[in-house]
Amino acid sequence: MNAYVQRVIEETKAKNPDQPEFLQTVTEVLTSLENVIDQHPEYEKAALLERLVEPERQVMFRVAWTDDEGKPHVNRGYRIQFNGALGPYKGGLRFHPSVNLSILKFLGFEQVFKNSLTTLPIGGGKGGSDFDPHGKSDAEIMRFCQAFMTELQRHIGPNTDVPAGDIGVGGREIGYLFGQYRRVRDSWDNGVLTGKPLTYGGSLIRPEATGYGVLYYAEQVFAHEHDSIKGKTFALSGYGNVAWGAAKKIAELGGKAVTISGHNGYVYDPDGIVTEEKLNYLLEMRASRNANIKMYADKFGCEFHENEKPWGVKADVCIPCATQNEVTMEEAKKIVANGTKYYFEGANMPATNEAIAYMQENGVIVGPAKAVNAGGVAVSALEMSQNSERLSWTSEEVNAKLKQIMKSIHDNSAKCAAEYGLGYDLVKGANIAGFLKVADAMMSQGLF
Ligand code: NDP
Repeated sequence: MNAYVQRVIEETKAKNPDQPEFLQTVTEVLTSLENVIDQHPEYEKAALLERLVEPERQVMFRVAWTDDEGKPHVNRGYRIQFNGALGPYKGGLRFHPSVNLSILKFLGFEQVFKNSLTTLPIGGGKGGSDFDPHGKSDAEIMRFCQAFMTELQRHIGPNTDVPAGDIGVGGREIGYLFGQYRRVRDSWDNGVLTGKPLTYGGSLIRPEATGYGVLYYAEQVFAHEHDSIKGKTFALSGYGNVAWGAAKKIAELGGKAVTISGHNGYVYDPDGIVTEEKLNYLLEMRASRNANIKMYADKFGCEFHENEKPWGVKADVCIPCATQNEVTMEEAKKIVANGTKYYFEGANMPATNEAIAYMQENGVIVGPAKAVNAGGVAVSALEMSQNSERLSWTSEEVNAKLKQIMKSIHDNSAKCAAEYGLGYDLVKGANIAGFLKVADAMMSQGLF
């Protein structure tokens, strides 16, 4: 291994011993960059990798709120402003009980490369809270969002940091967060959050963007393999925003998603999640207070596999769309044994590094999260452009730009992999393509 890469990985491990998800991502990204680092000794002289793995700023704060019975609760809020070399920090807010510093630092680090890949001028950040929205009333969600934004507003703004949604943060939460920002700051500030509802600055296609983007990227890979999406079966995990958008586009392109999942199991629907009724039901479930994937099995009379993951189901394509580390070696072996040829990451870091390596070694084409799911943040950046210019593009215009961006992400990743002697390795190619632009900007902006 390149000595500089190895040293920075070891130092990062020593500095962050209790952050396994963050270390997993740093190791994956930096080892992908070895061929580049070999050719650029100036990066070591400028301590570029040491700076790259250290967030520019990390904010942690108390969020106190009351439930409907008037009982007080305290959660922890975070914003990780990881790297602003390419533009204002941009990345989602996640509300989920599993949220901690390690998870948000891995998401923020990933976001830096993802945002670079989009070709748009945005830096990388991530934030959120260990608040659990499941089972909360609308009024409780509103009070939590208001308490969260009362502190967060000090740290964000249209030229510094523009947050968006993620797990547990959809249009409703973005609305409450933006309302509180506006109330405290008395300023519109170009909309400051993205993923807003359409009536006040939201972009058409933003709800669908991540899922659609996954399929636009997949189309490029299928074209490279002289293959077609038509008639293919897809195993998906999750039933939230990303899974919904992906299932919708799969159906439109003539394939069918046969699984979706939640925290308590997965559903197998051999007829496919292809009708408008089924696709709309995913939205209904996600919006319901006690959402649970079993609701889908009950409504449409299909199999529910309690506390199991969908990766044992035979499918041509696997697309995890739920959360981190849902594909370990055990699941990777099932995916390979099923003869699955394509694996695209809708969720962030859904697989362990070992699982990815195993799938690639066994001929599965892997599309990594930072490339595959970049459509969401890309359309968020397009929302920023529309807000600052006070205009709204049609859904056809946004969709065409999204398609073009996903094609350029695929092509640029493939080109970088080939240039550095790595064949059609889209995982390493995406890391290299994302890195080169950030590295160039950091080198030209001097030491800080
Ligand atoms: P949603 O909140 O809409 O949906 C999350 C889904 O994941 C739900 O189906 C949920 O099921 C499931 N899930 C959450 N935690 C767990 C868990 N611990 N175990 C099993 N299932 C779980 O989120 P999104 O669809 O927005 O995000 C999904 C993934 O995609 C995340 O990794 C996110 O970072 C990534 N992503 C999202 C983007 C976006 O635009 N929304 C952009 C880029 C990436 P249940 O309710 O049963 O827990």
